[in-house]
Amino acid sequence: MVHDDYKEMIPARALSALDAAEERVLNEHLENCAECRKELEDWQATAAALSLTLDPSQPIVTVWTLPGRDFVCVEPWTRPSDAVNRGEALWVAPQQTHEAMFEIRRA
Ligand SMILES: [Zn+2]
Repeated sequence: MVHDDYKEMIPARALSALDAAEERVLNEHLENCAECRKELEDWQATAAALSLTLDPSQPIVTVWTLPGRDFVCVEPWTRPSDAVNRGEALWVAPQQTHEAMFEIRRA
């Protein structure tokens, strides 16, 4: 991976959304990259001011952003990532509906 790849992981790290392997790889990069450490500090300050409350009826939510952009996207998903390739069914069947709420607050 290159610097930009690690940089893309930083917002997710600030939201504690990386898996253990991703976090370990990013931590190794952070030891040697002051720019990414500063970026992580900035994102952690932003994340500390935000709270996200999810509806428990919505089992799968992805939170993401893009490097250098000032937004965070919250996406309710109808199946886990790569579920189609693993043959897993949707948890909301075709033609059915599901309503859920989430709330984002900034302190
Ligand atoms: Zn870096």
